[in-house]
Amino acid sequence: MTVYFENNTYKYEIEAVMKLFCPLEGFEFRFDEPLPENRRDCVIISVGDRLYVYGDIGGKNGESTLPLPEESEREIALCRMLFSVLSHITGVTPEWGCLTGIRPVKKVNALIRSGCDADGVYKALNEKYYISRRKSDLSYLTAVTQKPVLDALSPESYSLYVAIPFCPTRCSYCSFVSHSIQSRGAKELVPQYVEMLCREIEELGRITNGTDYFCDTVYIGGGTPTSLSAAQLEKIMKTIEKSIDISKIREYTVEAGRADTITEDKLIAIKDNGATRISINPQTMQDSVLAAIGRKHTAAQAEECFKLARRLGFDNINMDTIAGLPTDSYEGFADTINRLTELSPENITVHTLTVKRSAALFSSAESFRENYHGDGEISRMVNFAFDTLTDHGYSPYYLYRQKNTVGNLENVGYAKKGTEGIYNICIMEEAQNILACGASGSTKLIDPATGKITRHFNYKYPYEYISRYEKMTAYKKEVEEFLHRSH
Ligand code: SF4
Repeated sequence: MTVYFENNTYKYEIEAVMKLFCPLEGFEFRFDEPLPENRRDCVIISVGDRLYVYGDIGGKNGESTLPLPEESEREIALCRMLFSVLSHITGVTPEWGCLTGIRPVKKVNALIRSGCDADGVYKALNEKYYISRRKSDLSYLTAVTQKPVLDALSPESYSLYVAIPFCPTRCSYCSFVSHSIQSRGAKELVPQYVEMLCREIEELGRITNGTDYFCDTVYIGGGTPTSLSAAQLEKIMKTIEKSIDISKIREYTVEAGRADTITEDKLIAIKDNGATRISINPQTMQDSVLAAIGRKHTAAQAEECFKLARRLGFDNINMDTIAGLPTDSYEGFADTINRLTELSPENITVHTLTVKRSAALFSSAESFRENYHGDGEISRMVNFAFDTLTDHGYSPYYLYRQKNTVGNLENVGYAKKGTEGIYNICIMEEAQNILACGASGSTKLIDPATGKITRHFNYKYPYEYISRYEKMTAYKKEVEEFLHRSH
């Protein structure tokens, strides 16, 4: 489909709205070129003495015009116009409207601070973005649940993130940079990686100690951290304990991840070394779906891991699910949510499948189309999750959206009261400094005076992380200066 722009270059947001309605389509963008005589399968976005939007999909078309608004209002006005035109043509009305950012709750938090209640938030978001009442209320409820956590944050706190970018095998839908631990070379790479990671943690300890900043939460994430051995996990956790003052931490999470990596000795190592929260992520409780996404474990094994963790004394467990996995159905997804609710973990996180073409599942346009669900069914799945979980005493406490998510839907963490994951809230609301170690780790420093965020990135892949460690960590000098600056 071709998109013509006249006297404007609002490509980024316009493309995001196009993707809501034509998620499998490729687009060609043309700027200030003559418009075609045959206006089939094209979109026109024009700014002149008025705003004008035209759209045609397969011969069905519509248009919209508006008097020229202030320059700052033009882009969003054109997005709303395009949204209405495409909604009219396709008969589809995506629930988030043309709100395309990944952190909608940040906007809601700002509206609440300006005195809005749930109705006021809906009015503001609906007027500007055409958001539905359901999604507005979901964002509002999330903001209200996370408020006590955000209010209690100290500007001099930080969360420590430790990355383990290895997994037992690669799930078919995954586009993350994780390495299969069974791949050639992993045998050598993993011990070297653990060594280097411990070195980075020790060095971080040296620059954080003696400053006003204190460690509030620790999060060991992946990948799948439990693809390491119990001894390797213990080594990393002992290094954290020795190097960094964690006497004030309120939360220590280890993503245990996949059931095919979880063993009693690893859970004991995790517990004995200070973790207060773990995540066991089945993604689905349907064996056929687990097989379809390339996971080598069953739903019963995930359940066994959960029960084992409970027996070992873990009293704060998260379980992850994904709506829209290939071969899953509304009924299958509903059964997954019901079975997890029966297990009653403290947190249940409901993701929506992200369709990135770098994932093995979507390696060709054909398989991409075959595995793509209609958004209506996935919308019903996430709505079922919301209704069921809130009926069982869970509240949404953090929410984010990703690009290329089916139906432009959301990822939501649900928690029983008082068990909200502090790190998850902080990372999504960009509310706390993050000091990251390991491949793909991203450090965020928030200037307490201006709120400006400075980011520093570690190399993505373990091999680069090990071989170019010195070059990569040059930025730590700036982190040190930030931590020692008197604010
Ligand atoms: S466990 Fe997670 S990070 Fe690892 S391959 Fe599967 S989806 Fe990707």
